Amino acid sequence: MDTTDVFQCETCGLHYRDETIARQCESFCKEHNACGIEITKHSLETASRAKKLEDVKESVANKKLFYKSYLVSQGRVLRA
Ligand SMILES: [Zn+2]
Repeated sequence: MDTTDVFQCETCGLHYRDETIARQCESFCKEHNACGIEITKHSLETASRAKKLEDVKESVANKKLFYKSYLVSQGRVLRA
């Protein structure tokens, strides 16, 4: 990971490019004893995980499409 200009929330340990957001995360974590999803979505950890999630969504969409065309080929889908 590129560590230049990375700020870490000392409470949850997530990293941010933006010091302001890192501070917001820290105060939220201390106050609620949990991370705020609106804040942690900006973290470097979540950003890299989101990329993987996109891949999962895509493969699920492909499977659904495949299943639908399978049903059509089986004559099980009525025309709308
Ligand atoms: Zn935090």
